[in-house]
Amino acid sequence: MSGCTGASTQPDGPEQSGPSGPRTARDRGGAGASCSEIHQLVRRVQRGYTGRGSPDVSLIPRAPNYIGTADMPAHSGPWDYLAEVPLVLYGPGHIRARGAVERRATMADLAPTQARLIGFRAWPHRDGRVLWDALTKHSPAPPRAVVTIVWDGGGDNALEEHPGSWPYLRRLSERGTSFQQMTIGSSPSVTPPVHTTLGTGAWPATHGIPALKVRTKDNRYVDPFEGLDPGRIRVGTLADLYDAAEDNRPVTAAFGAIDWHLGMIGQGSGWPGGDRDPVVLLKYLADTLSNEAIYTLPAIEDPAALSRYTNALDARDGELDLKWRGHDLEDETVRYASPAHVAYQQHLIERFITATDLGEDPVPDLLYVNFKMSDDAGHSWGMTSPETADALSAQDRALRRLVRTLNRTVGRKQWALMITADHGQMPYPHESGGWAIAGSELQADANAALDHTDNGVDLVEFVKSAGMYVRRDDLTPNGLALDDLARWAYGYRAEDNLRGGGRIPDSYDGDPGDRLFDAALAGRRLAAARCRP
Ligand SMILES: [Zn+2]
Repeated sequence: MSGCTGASTQPDGPEQSGPSGPRTARDRGGAGASCSEIHQLVRRVQRGYTGRGSPDVSLIPRAPNYIGTADMPAHSGPWDYLAEVPLVLYGPGHIRARGAVERRATMADLAPTQARLIGFRAWPHRDGRVLWDALTKHSPAPPRAVVTIVWDGGGDNALEEHPGSWPYLRRLSERGTSFQQMTIGSSPSVTPPVHTTLGTGAWPATHGIPALKVRTKDNRYVDPFEGLDPGRIRVGTLADLYDAAEDNRPVTAAFGAIDWHLGMIGQGSGWPGGDRDPVVLLKYLADTLSNEAIYTLPAIEDPAALSRYTNALDARDGELDLKWRGHDLEDETVRYASPAHVAYQQHLIERFITATDLGEDPVPDLLYVNFKMSDDAGHSWGMTSPETADALSAQDRALRRLVRTLNRTVGRKQWALMITADHGQMPYPHESGGWAIAGSELQADANAALDHTDNGVDLVEFVKSAGMYVRRDDLTPNGLALDDLARWAYGYRAEDNLRGGGRIPDSYDGDPGDRLFDAALAGRRLAAARCRP
């Protein structure tokens, strides 16, 4: 570990660089991250390392570089601008009205805090801690419902880009408790592991969900929730443990969009002593789906309402042309990321709350919700786009409607709400000045440089945004250890990553000879890193 000696290890928190976004590293004159920042980034990667399911060599590109394509940037990495997310707790009678607090918080703190709120004393000690700062000292009875809302891709950098798009969230943060130093706490900063951290109060190193793909024992790369199966989560979620301990009297429910959101809710009847509770995934074609072997699927679809919301959005610009900001609303992928779909989802959530009797009796219930549209708009049109602002605004209006619904159905002072996000968003390289590191080129270069056997096995099998997957059985034949691969990658430069005949793009705010990575890990161990002392 060069240049990092003597640096202190600091607890997770964004104070080192603030919320200034991805240009930070360049703005400091290209000096790169400080040693305490690098420690922080490495710790996030280590918390995210699950063993065989994770990359063998984890790579930390120098911000704002990332591994991925320039036109579809992946929001995967340990940097503050992806890790910093909002956390607002609100619930008169249960949550204190403290406004902004500076205490550090992470995604692992939600489950223990919820356990405390609902009076579930048997919650095991894991990685997260109870956020006492937010809880009232003496509440007469626990809330009848604790509702958790995730704005997918609604991290601080996306919110700060569109400060006028979330007036209601801001109001709740003033009337509740808002954790200014909230981070997701682990890397990669992608939906499956972070939602599972939320559900389990544990890091991926404990819960076992590493990324968008997990490598299996027989060397396949599969969706960790393939077949809507949450069975790869190694520990019980709060919903699993609490429901079983209370003889399945609580409603433990989830409303999401895709299988990756199942990490919030867990195993359903697949957990020992568990039963089938309501879980709905609202797909982009607007049909609902569940895994009815382990969950229930309440009948809540209402296609006529979707048409009404779509027509209302179409009419917003005064022209009934089936277009929203010039995009064709008859294209389901457009409609899915639009405010019409957000409004429809909120409508279905209200039907869901009624259908499941959420909060109807004094036994506290849990509801987990993901709004995917803010992330989808970011992927389709970019973090800085007006479409992303529209998605956030629509989610903010949905939040206001949800509070009204809870007051009406569950009752005033009978519920608590937690609002957060699973990651920030990655700006385009032409906005950040970063290098979109081509993973396939990195893989080809690694194999050309290091794989000298002629056995039909590629030493580096895959490069994903979090790093390199290595055929460990091809290390010894090449006389190599994982550390050698990590150190090779650590020396990799921008010019090395050019494809044949390619040239450095004008938008790149650096030199061809720049090294692209600040740190490389072999397994969970740091093999090489550089930093500003
Ligand atoms: Zn995303």
